[in-house]
Order: sequence, then structure tokens, then C-alpha cells
Amino acid sequence: MTEQNEEPRELPGVRVVLVEPSHPGNVGAVARAMKTMCVRDLVLVNPARYPSAEATARASGADDILAAAPVVETVDEALAGCVFVVGTTARRRHLPWPVVDAAQGAGRLLEERRSGPVALLFGREHSGLTNEEVERCNALVRIPANPGYSSLNLAAAAQILCYELYRQSGEGGPMADADEVPRVEATVDEVSGMLEHLRRVATAVEFLDPQSPRLLMRRLGRLFNRARLERTEVQILRGLLAAVERKLRQEVTTDGRSGDSAPRNSEGGT
Ligand code: SAH
Repeated sequence: MTEQNEEPRELPGVRVVLVEPSHPGNVGAVARAMKTMCVRDLVLVNPARYPSAEATARASGADDILAAAPVVETVDEALAGCVFVVGTTARRRHLPWPVVDAAQGAGRLLEERRSGPVALLFGREHSGLTNEEVERCNALVRIPANPGYSSLNLAAAAQILCYELYRQSGEGGPMADADEVPRVEATVDEVSGMLEHLRRVATAVEFLDPQSPRLLMRRLGRLFNRARLERTEVQILRGLLAAVERKLRQEVTTDGRSGDSAPRNSEGGT
């Protein structure tokens, strides 16, 4: 009974993540926007009032996308396994961050998708994404809009991004020329594991003051997310950090009698 004029196409490997959407209607409308553009993977982080009849009604035939959408507790869970994350923002941010338009953002996602799953992160209707969430992103998209009224409805923003993904994934688009050797990108969880390791070592060598750690780690997080680390690069950095930790432990044991000059490890506190 459903008549298809064309073979349905799909754009696998692009994950749309909605962070704490408050209106179930918007969730349904995003599912519909996605399905019209062949984007299939939706992940919901702590949605309010969900599942809901309103979401299903607004999905209007795209309820298969809703039914398949995992509901998770944290942004970290939603991004697990992704090699590249594009955040979306209606407003200018205080921290300088690479901000591109919708076409460029979609192009980047399609390019990075060659090496693994990628994610497109949308914020809350009232407050968007937090700075911490933005820091999980490798790039930010701002859809150019009226400077005095630049905040689109969540589903309208999703429609524009999904349209760009669809348009650019066609024949001759970035997907067509996959001839080069693919880079093996580090996933977001590998990068955050490395950053946590770096934080421990920076504390141990007393470079990082645990009393005011925030800005340093945010800046380092930004640096590494901009750099687009490969998996082997993360392994090198972790190997280096492990070597620093080994050396610190040796110094603590061989120079144990002059404990005051030995660097402390992170267990030691200050
Ligand atoms: N008051 C919020 C607006 C949130 S709109 C704020 O200041 O951030 C809800 C979500 O829709 C945003 O988090 C973003 O994901 C998306 N969005 C809305 N307008 C957008 C725009 N111009 N460019 C990119 N994303 C936009």
C-alpha cells in the first residue's frame, strides 16, 4: 500500500543527537525532517515527556525513526564511538571556536564519516548547548539568520542540516571520491579518556592546580578536538603520559628519603 516512486536512499553513520528536548512535538518533527532527507539515526538525551503521542503525531510516518531511537542519560553515551562531532548553535559564543555554516558543516560530516560514525548535536529549546557540551564538538555550525532573531525552531534547524547532508551526499558529492587511504580517527571517548589521563598527569607534576583546574582542561580539550586526532596519535600521547607516570613512581621510590623534592602523584593531593 505504500507506493515508492524511487528506491529509498539512506545516509548511515550520521547520528542526530537531541540534548534534553523539552517539547515532544519537536522530537517528532525532527524525526520527520530526518526521514525526508534519508538520515536515520536519532539519539535522545534525557527528553522531557517522552515517549509521547504528540511526538508520534508530529513524526507523521517517520515514527520508525522514533521507535529505533535510543534514549540515553548523558551526552557522552550519545556520542560514544563517534569520530567527529558537529555542534549547532544559534548564538555567538565567548570562546573562539571554529564556526561554519550549514553547508560547510554538512560537508565536514560527510567527509569525516568515511572514517567512522559522526554526530550532529542539537541543544535545548530554551538554552541551547552548554559550554561543556560545545567543548565535546570538533566544529560548530551556526545557520546564518537574522542577526536580531537568529534562533530557529529545533526541527527547522535539523531540517536545514539534514537537507545539506542529503544534497551533498549525492552523485559527485564528497562520498563519491573515497579513493584515498582512510585515516583511523580517534573516537570522542578515546579523546576524553586521553584528556582525563592528561589531567591526572598534569596534576601529578603540579602543572595543574586542582583548586582551579577548569580553564586549562577546557583549553586543552579544545586544542585536541580541533586537531582531529588519529587513533595512533591518542595511543602515542597515552604512552607518553604512562611513561611520565612510571618515571614519577621511580623517583618517588629511589628518592624516597627526600620526599619533599619528589613530584607527587595524583593520589597524593596537595
Ligand atoms: N536560546 C537558545 C536557542 C536554542 S534553539 C540558545 O541561545 O542557544 C534550539 C536548538 O536549535 C539550538 O540549540 C541549536 O541546536 C538549534 N538552532 C537553532 N537556531 C540555530 C541556528 N541559527 N544555527 C544552528 N543551530 C540552531
